[in-house]
Amino acid sequence: MNTYKSFALIPAAGMGKRMGAPVNKQYLQLNGMPIVARTIAVFEQCPLIDAVYLVIPAEEIPYCREYIVDAYGFSKVAAIIPGGKERQNSVMNGLQAMSSSVNDNDVVLIHDGVRPLITGELIAESIGAARANAGALVAVPCKDTIKTVHNGIVVSTPVRETLWQAQTPQAFRFKNIFNAHLSAEADCFSGTDDASLIERTGGDVRIIRGDYRNIKITTPEDLLLAEAFLTAMEKECMQC
Ligand code: C5P
Repeated sequence: MNTYKSFALIPAAGMGKRMGAPVNKQYLQLNGMPIVARTIAVFEQCPLIDAVYLVIPAEEIPYCREYIVDAYGFSKVAAIIPGGKERQNSVMNGLQAMSSSVNDNDVVLIHDGVRPLITGELIAESIGAARANAGALVAVPCKDTIKTVHNGIVVSTPVRETLWQAQTPQAFRFKNIFNAHLSAEADCFSGTDDASLIERTGGDVRIIRGDYRNIKITTPEDLLLAEAFLTAMEKECMQC
């Protein structure tokens, strides 16, 4: 029997301007269901997840409660928390809101609201790895050669075999990630993901080999790709 619980923290408080749509991109339909609802549904249906904490722009909270959480009957959503200016601020707001109800050694999986193609298998692997390491993140090996560029001129070409593209979920024991966020805030450090806040304190973050289909839906092209991936995944599911 588990002596710890596992929680999902879903930052979904970005404005989604790169999509160019009149509504926040996360409410756009992906094969008949809003993107963010699909993301929440994966965690709602995963038996390993005890509760879900959602972070949403303050002015969208009533809409999200009515048209996403209540409309789809998500019973695991424990709170809808107002977001902050940057993603890191939104995650911090979520961690602070969770802190009175979770224990230090409980696992928190931080997962972008606009990555609906995450699977239950990767969630399970992330939880296991978060217990055994300072943290864990789902990532895929880089297929392209990556250049470091300054003022339009290539500065260096990192060895491709060492490069991985970070995705989410990124999973941690609650005390590890809460302390890392508090310390980053105190030092005015800003990272583009949560694992980088653990890395700067010297903690080992384990890579979990993910899935190229677990994309972050940011632009209209991403939505087309996600539709194609989802259709294929649903077909695979019907065959198994
Ligand atoms: O900004 P980016 O596209 O990397 O967003 C990744 C996730 O972080 C999205 O789900 C977005 O809604 C969320 N986010 C947030 N608060 C912000 C900015 C982004 O919760 N201020």
